[in-house]
Amino acid sequence: MSEPASNVTELKPRNRLPIYLDNQATTPLDPRVLEAMMPYFTEHFGNPHSESHVYGHNAAAAIEAARADIAKLIHADPREIVFTSGATEANNLALKGVAAFARAHPPVNGAARDEIIVPLTEHKCVLESAEALGREGFTINRFPVEANGLVSLDRLAEAISDRTLLVSVLAAHNEIGVIQPLAEIGALCRARGALFHTDAAQAFGKIPLDVEAMKIDLMSISGHKIYGPKGIGALYIRRRPRVRLLPLFDGGGQERGIRSGTLPTPLCVGLGRAAAIAAEEMGEEATRLRTMRDRLRATLTRRLPDARVNGDTEHRLPGNINLSFPGVTAPDLIASCPGIAISTGSACTSAVVEPSYVLRAIGLADPLANASIRLGLGRFTTPDEIDLAADTIAAAVTRLRGGR
Ligand SMILES: *Cc1c(COP(=O)(O)O)cnc(C)c1O
Repeated sequence: MSEPASNVTELKPRNRLPIYLDNQATTPLDPRVLEAMMPYFTEHFGNPHSESHVYGHNAAAAIEAARADIAKLIHADPREIVFTSGATEANNLALKGVAAFARAHPPVNGAARDEIIVPLTEHKCVLESAEALGREGFTINRFPVEANGLVSLDRLAEAISDRTLLVSVLAAHNEIGVIQPLAEIGALCRARGALFHTDAAQAFGKIPLDVEAMKIDLMSISGHKIYGPKGIGALYIRRRPRVRLLPLFDGGGQERGIRSGTLPTPLCVGLGRAAAIAAEEMGEEATRLRTMRDRLRATLTRRLPDARVNGDTEHRLPGNINLSFPGVTAPDLIASCPGIAISTGSACTSAVVEPSYVLRAIGLADPLANASIRLGLGRFTTPDEIDLAADTIAAAVTRLRGGR
């Protein structure tokens, strides 16, 4: 295995600006992933669904190898992996596909399961998918989380009923980084006959995931959050006991009829390579990221003692920290650190700066929610960058508060 050092960091000296600390928004492509993808843009261009010649066979074989690498990382069977365009599509397919199947196949006797439980802090694509199902007559339980961002198992146990069709919980949060008690949630859902879907866009390849041990029925995966390409993802769909869902669109019936459309061979290969690298390096990488993240947090909270950490500090992605700095606003702070790529983590779709719905849901008042930034470290972050970023951010907060 070659060194993880790469073009990405060779492009500039390791302690100069700009510094990329937005690895929860997207990650740079690992050069080893790009290398694996290249031949499938060029000589191996065949349609993977062409069964009559070697061009098709080569592409199909590469896709099946990638599928196996993805499955292995979560202890699944390759036949349980369906490629999608990303986690947004996978989340839509999981919620809407399961709901459509349930609606089309009501139980012979007894009440139909028509309720979906989603924490208020889910990613927008899960929340909006649930809202769409609400408009179609499903009951949506918009479920509160605790002040640390975690789902309370007692509250969830109370909320699940014999009407609950699906519970969808984000594995590792894109904004506040918290990791949910997946095994406990899975056991609860299984015991009550509800399906368990998890959006693992940020968790896959970063923390150990096991669909058997965690009793996960559906899992959404994204390529570009794990140093793979954008535009590719996957949905894990359990075969035993079989999870049934209807496709979102009609076509040639690829991916076992669940997801029609010609598969993008280079992107599938890239996701597979990214998963294989993560399988090898996840443990070491987590240790390295945690050390740098803790150092960043320690420096910032030493220089700015009233800084507040949002989200549980223990059950947390190793590369994530979300901080509030009372008395400043995030847009001002971000503008004051032009050399550092940071964000609030909440996608701002309009000109109006809305406080993060996630931070509101964990109980932050609007001024504090508006004073929060997300720092996302990644595979190519260096300790020197962390020190320079900590310095720059601390100085900017002090300056914005009128100090020097
Ligand atoms: C990025 C992200 C998504 C969307 O994934 P795409 O592959 O970009 O569609 C969904 N959920 C979470 C938690 C994410 O971080």
